[in-house]
Amino acid sequence: MKSLTDPVSNLKGVGPKRVADLATLGIDTIADLLTYYPTRYDDFTPTNLAEAKDKQKITLRGTVVSEPLLTRYGYRRNRLSFRMQVGRDVVLVTFFNQPYVQKSLTLNGQVAVMGKWDATRRQVTANKLLKNTPDQQNEFGAVYPVNKHIRQSVLRSFIRQAYEEYHKIIPTLLPETLRERYRLLDRRTMIKEIHFPKDQSTAKAARRTAAYEEFFLFQLRLQAIRRANRQQDGERILYHNDELKEFIKTLPFELTTAQKRVVNEICRDMRQPYQMNRLLQGDVGSGKTVVAAIAVYATITAGFQAALMAPTEILAAQHAEKLSRVFEDTHVHVGLLTGSLTAKQHRELVTAIKRGDINLVVGTHALIQDDVEYANLGLVITDEQHRFGVNQRQLLREKGDHPDVLAMTATPIPRTLAITNYGEMDVSVIDQLPAGRKPIQTQWLKSNQHAEAIHFLRDQLASGAQAYVVSPLIEESAALDVQNATDLYNQLSADLQPEYRVGLLHGRMSGDEKDETMRQFKDGEIQVLVATTVIEVGVDNPNATVMVIYDADRFGLAQLHQLRGRVGRGDRQSYCLLIADPKTDDGKARMKTMVATNDGFKVAEEDLRLRGAGDVLGSKQSGMPEFKVGDPVADLKMLQIARADAGSLLATPHWDEIDENQPLVLYLQRHELETHFD
Ligand code: ADP
Ligand code: MG
Repeated sequence: MKSLTDPVSNLKGVGPKRVADLATLGIDTIADLLTYYPTRYDDFTPTNLAEAKDKQKITLRGTVVSEPLLTRYGYRRNRLSFRMQVGRDVVLVTFFNQPYVQKSLTLNGQVAVMGKWDATRRQVTANKLLKNTPDQQNEFGAVYPVNKHIRQSVLRSFIRQAYEEYHKIIPTLLPETLRERYRLLDRRTMIKEIHFPKDQSTAKAARRTAAYEEFFLFQLRLQAIRRANRQQDGERILYHNDELKEFIKTLPFELTTAQKRVVNEICRDMRQPYQMNRLLQGDVGSGKTVVAAIAVYATITAGFQAALMAPTEILAAQHAEKLSRVFEDTHVHVGLLTGSLTAKQHRELVTAIKRGDINLVVGTHALIQDDVEYANLGLVITDEQHRFGVNQRQLLREKGDHPDVLAMTATPIPRTLAITNYGEMDVSVIDQLPAGRKPIQTQWLKSNQHAEAIHFLRDQLASGAQAYVVSPLIEESAALDVQNATDLYNQLSADLQPEYRVGLLHGRMSGDEKDETMRQFKDGEIQVLVATTVIEVGVDNPNATVMVIYDADRFGLAQLHQLRGRVGRGDRQSYCLLIADPKTDDGKARMKTMVATNDGFKVAEEDLRLRGAGDVLGSKQSGMPEFKVGDPVADLKMLQIARADAGSLLATPHWDEIDENQPLVLYLQRHELETHFD
């Protein structure tokens, strides 16, 4: 029996060599081959000469009626001309500097050429000879991404063969109702017309179906994960409401409306018997830490432990310190678990965690390692500096006894990313900054305006402000990175001392050295902190109100915005100076965006637009899905619709009883989502 999972070696002409060649394109099975979609189409449809306009790009098909003549005139310059009969017309065709074309021409032979039409002289300046049009009938041809192992025409012929032999068993995955609603093709037709369309509009219709299908199936998987999580038992965190209210009252400020809303969303979720899986997003300084602290407190009043996982030791230490302060007068005992503990300290801490003496554990990945056992873990908070992918997060959720999970991110996530990478989560957004914050003023200076920057810096320091100075980023070399920071440190020391003290912070310093420098900066013993990007996720000092970034164009928008977020945390006016001479349009656009807006969501949308979905979504590292046809940025609307459709399909009461052999059910089972059907 034929199956779409048959190996490609079932096809004629595909031996071991071809199997290996196809594997380099990621094609192993018939299904892989059939869903190896073209990236574009070449249009070889002949132009009607009577309608051709002067200078138009045209395609002509006809007969060679004069002996091709090659004329050389000068070094590597030559001209190849012949007459070609096209219908009743005879036109002159000329190729410049492509003498090798002559080999493919014979008197009375059939050819097709592409080129520019000269209407007055009735001649074509050709740039392309079409020897192998895709096939005789079809003048509109798919173009596939190929490599040196395999040619277009070979790949195309395999796809055609696969289609011919297997098309009868291609199942349609999309439910009938959806296909009708959006006038989509059935899958067999879609596959056929995406590979062998007769014209642009046929291809377009097929691609539309393919894109929707791709989005829909992807969203269905995410929603299925979400549903499964909800069906799974989780800890029911029955927190002590009055105690929690008392705690909130002790905070030195009133929560913003957005914070209150988000706290309610989280608390409501935690009381439920399922495992919470929630993303908390908010711009830098929007007050996520306080919200996290409230969730932690609630968890602890219910008799559970909480853990907070940060991506770096610096950040973990800082969270621990901040939270210890917030919980000073409470019964919350905070432990900091990092790699820099001595063996003895580590042992003691692990024992205290196991006994439940420590009820909030802050740390790096060490937190979820095997030797750490919790007495009663109810809540895990992750601080997602680098975004985890869907699968990684799923792993984390399986640790322990199904604790609730709250993922915090300071990177505002454009809608597209939220839907694709966090689609399986519930989302809470803090879309408001605490009252009284003055927007940071950002300015872009060229490097020849450096003196101005120093002048400004001095003025600010004189009025009691502190400043960060970020040295240029050298991604390729950590050593150069340090060198740069050191040079800048020396230069600024010369410029500003003895009135002001300058400090240095970089990744090669020991943990103790870093801690000491940061303490000095916080306590005001140092006024200017020169640093590599380690401060991106580091220090929190409300008195620091100036951020200077050298060679700012070397940083991405998201990173620039993060850096800028280090200032603007107190009541004083803050400033950000970008020093850059961008050489690319992209670099210029980034500087302009930073100057134009403080809004993290706008920055993130612009980032996505500039870098393109491919870069932001496509990288395997980021855990983002790759789509073959659909473009989640350009087709956001469709993505949103597909998401809603997937959600409502899963919510239909009879979904669980659906025919086991239904293609869609089988599809989900292949992706190990069978838990939903028992
Ligand atoms: P984030 O973690 O989102 O970057 P933080 O929680 O560190 O933000 O908050 C930034 C600063 O704002 C902290 O100094 C915090 O104490 C303060 N803050 C938080 N919420 C409020 C509020 N509602 N009103 C005033 N200040 C607040
Ligand atoms: Mg719960």
